[in-house]
Amino acid sequence: MKATQFLPDVQKTLEARGEPAYRLKQAYAAITESLVRDWDEATSLPKALREALSEEVPAATLEIVRIARATDGTRKYLFKAHDGHLIETVMIPEKGRNTVCISTQVGCAMGCKFCATGLLGIKRNLNAREIAEQVFVAARDVAPERISNVVVMGMGEPMLNYNATLLALKVLNDSDGFGLAARHIAVSTSGLVDKIRRFADEPEQFHLAISLHTPFEEERREIMPVASRHSIPELMSAAQYFVDKTRRKLFFEYTLLAGVNDQPRHVVALAKLLDHPLYHLNMLRFNWTDTGFEATSKKDAKAFLYHARDRGLSATLRPSRGEDIDAACGQLAAKDLRGKPELLPVVPAV
Ligand code: SF4
Repeated sequence: MKATQFLPDVQKTLEARGEPAYRLKQAYAAITESLVRDWDEATSLPKALREALSEEVPAATLEIVRIARATDGTRKYLFKAHDGHLIETVMIPEKGRNTVCISTQVGCAMGCKFCATGLLGIKRNLNAREIAEQVFVAARDVAPERISNVVVMGMGEPMLNYNATLLALKVLNDSDGFGLAARHIAVSTSGLVDKIRRFADEPEQFHLAISLHTPFEEERREIMPVASRHSIPELMSAAQYFVDKTRRKLFFEYTLLAGVNDQPRHVVALAKLLDHPLYHLNMLRFNWTDTGFEATSKKDAKAFLYHARDRGLSATLRPSRGEDIDAACGQLAAKDLRGKPELLPVVPAV
């Protein structure tokens, strides 16, 4: 039962009090469906039990430190965990959709050279509750609108925190809980091939994105240390396994870095590498971080996109969102976690 795995501390407290088994289900629904952050809000539970739970196991595990709002409507949440670690989450409103980008680790061990989170190194894994709670907070914040999509593309490599990430996603997908369709949930990996295969074997229809960033082996090793562990042929073999097994579209993430991976030869090589009807190239211009890279110009990025399409690739160029609050892709942890001041004024937390 998901509630048992997701709320082990709550279950322990309920058992110690001799509460009937259905109380756990009620507590689970209160957190994942009613989105309570204080047991006092869980009115399906008797008052005495609410008081007991409040004393022993908090309904919310992440403290909302602040919410920054960008001029384009993007919101960035800064959370503090029980041990003082800080994590960030981003909510992107776009064309009637509300997409939440969540973190799975404090920092990241993968060390991608263009990524602010990578500069932090890894502090620890988040647990399933901390991962899912980021979505619950965003959902409360946008109500009565709803969260329509969740992308696991924030801080961390989710495949290095596989079990907790998967449990959190199952809870988000649970029709007795948050109830978000699996096809509205996507996980991004830097390319851990064994985990890509394992993810393909999961019964839920979650989407997958693989960070490619260049079709050339040597160049990939230079910007993504993970490439030294898994070659591009190994990665593409895992990608093939994923689409064969799931028949789902597979996304390849590509951050355009000026002079590094945005040349015509890259398009030519990508067209060969991604020649599959279920492969999609998802491009994004580099968002500035103090990593020494520069963004491809808008004009060159569009030319790259058209060139890719001319070569038969299914490709899109995503607009960057939330840049003025460092909430864009690869920018998480750029300021707050490295002790520098926040850029914009922030509003009080919900
Ligand atoms: S791009 Fe993703 S995998 Fe790479 S360092 Fe940043 S957070 Fe980690």
